[in-house]
Amino acid sequence: MTVVVAPLLDTYPRAAVTFVEGDGVWLTDARGRRYLDFCAGIAVVGLGHGHPAPLAAARAQLDRLWHVSNLYWTEPMAALAGRLSDRFGGAQAFFCNSGAEAVEAALKYARKATGRPGVLALDGSFHGRTLGALSVTGQPAKRHAFEPLLPGAAFARLNDVESLHAAATAETGCILLEPVQGEGGIRLASPAFLAAAVHLAAELDALLCLDEVQTGVGRTGTFFAFEQLGIRPQLVTLAKSLANGLPIGCLLVADEVTGAFEPGDHASTFGGNPVVCAAACAVCDAVDDELLADVQATGAQLVRGLEHLPGVLSARGRGLLVGAELDRPAAPVVAACLEAGLLVSAAGETVLRLTPPLVAGPDEVAQALFILEEVLS
Ligand code: PLP
Repeated sequence: MTVVVAPLLDTYPRAAVTFVEGDGVWLTDARGRRYLDFCAGIAVVGLGHGHPAPLAAARAQLDRLWHVSNLYWTEPMAALAGRLSDRFGGAQAFFCNSGAEAVEAALKYARKATGRPGVLALDGSFHGRTLGALSVTGQPAKRHAFEPLLPGAAFARLNDVESLHAAATAETGCILLEPVQGEGGIRLASPAFLAAAVHLAAELDALLCLDEVQTGVGRTGTFFAFEQLGIRPQLVTLAKSLANGLPIGCLLVADEVTGAFEPGDHASTFGGNPVVCAAACAVCDAVDDELLADVQATGAQLVRGLEHLPGVLSARGRGLLVGAELDRPAAPVVAACLEAGLLVSAAGETVLRLTPPLVAGPDEVAQALFILEEVLS
């Protein structure tokens, strides 16, 4: 395989392949070999590579205006805030450039709104690598080398209401949860657990923040995952697929709890960039009811297919955020799939994560299952 060797810090275990082109659910490497992409930049390229709608919107905006300061308005930023507010049912947006930044904005917002620094998060969670986001990430191995982190984080067990109550204190100002733990191994929060979190947040007068960086923008078969879970949080973070691969992050604050931030409290030079926001508007328009119904059907097909593969102990997911619990370590299987022409990722030691573009159809799912069967046999 062709590899570009470059002076990069050693932060990723990069596979020895260099991609040069993408088209829908397919990638092409520098030697011209094609791969079926069931990773999609880890749940980022939701509409598939080179989708005409965000591509045309970004191109048109590139020709008009690339950047002005957030001291001024641009049309795409205002349009995107409007679309997201409508989808949410009434919210105000803060735009930044990544998932971790969206989480940082949420942590600051909750602190300012409640006057309390405590954050109740979950074991196995993942909220990003910046120091604040890492402080509320429930994975000791990722935190260890960077301690001391922010004080005030407490961790409960997923789907264990008792442990949620036990971890709460008078200082808790924010309850931060992923509807599906993505990096933590595709572990689904139950509706009952989320309902308990809503009640606890109300009891504590804390804000409930759902981190939908990975689950948002249609990935689970509804625009926001919370729509299918019977709750409405006060804060939501988005990033990954919002602009189909252009960098963006977003904090949404429900209308009921707006007003805590004032000018000067938070900022981001590139946040709300017009080119990125134009692409994100096109993404929001493309993630319609028809596509969401397809995501649910394709996701169900994928889970059913995985359940019958050798070496798969169980399969689970919401929409096209799918995990297969293997009887062996996932990393070598990911590497073997790449050799066989299929991109997938690992989420934890033994979980294979499948996050194809939302536009993947039944044929592509069948093809991916065929390759996986060969690899696992
Ligand atoms: N929150 C969740 C739920 C994520 O899955 C991720 C990334 O995987 C992040 C936050 C961090 O996002 P980013 O890598 O864009 O900073």
